[in-house]
Amino acid sequence: MTEVYNLLETGFDAATLSQQLHAYFKQHESSEIARIHAMLALFATEQCLGYRLAQYFGDDQAPRRCGHCSVCHGQVARLPEPPALPALVDKNFEALCGEFIHRHHQYSGTVPGAERLTRFLCGISVPLFTKLKARSIPGFAVLEDYPYAEVRDWAEHHLQD
Ligand SMILES: [Zn+2]
Repeated sequence: MTEVYNLLETGFDAATLSQQLHAYFKQHESSEIARIHAMLALFATEQCLGYRLAQYFGDDQAPRRCGHCSVCHGQVARLPEPPALPALVDKNFEALCGEFIHRHHQYSGTVPGAERLTRFLCGISVPLFTKLKARSIPGFAVLEDYPYAEVRDWAEHHLQD
């Protein structure tokens, strides 16, 4: 969860570097999400697993049926449906985030951004949370079963109000 860097050169513009790193981690995040979706799609495929893997690695010569994977044996994996959760629109933003925003503001003089709020709500700790004793604040991890991107959109929407 925590990246650590050694400072070898000091002659750089911190704002530019910060933007570059942010773009890099954003890009990294989306490619990781895409990779996980590709893996999930592979697990639940109705095509021969060997054939799908060969295709993934660019091999067009592979036979369409390997004859010995689970799919070829007639066992297509069914991934469980995500749990049905009450809609986020019905959640009370103030009740879930008010205390955290208050403590964040006391500590740093700023209102947390959507990303930090989402980490709080999803129970993903960052070093700052230790200083804020965030785990003991009501609201910590209450939305951990919801997809991260959904919680972030919800938080972003309420922060704009
Ligand atoms: Zn097969």
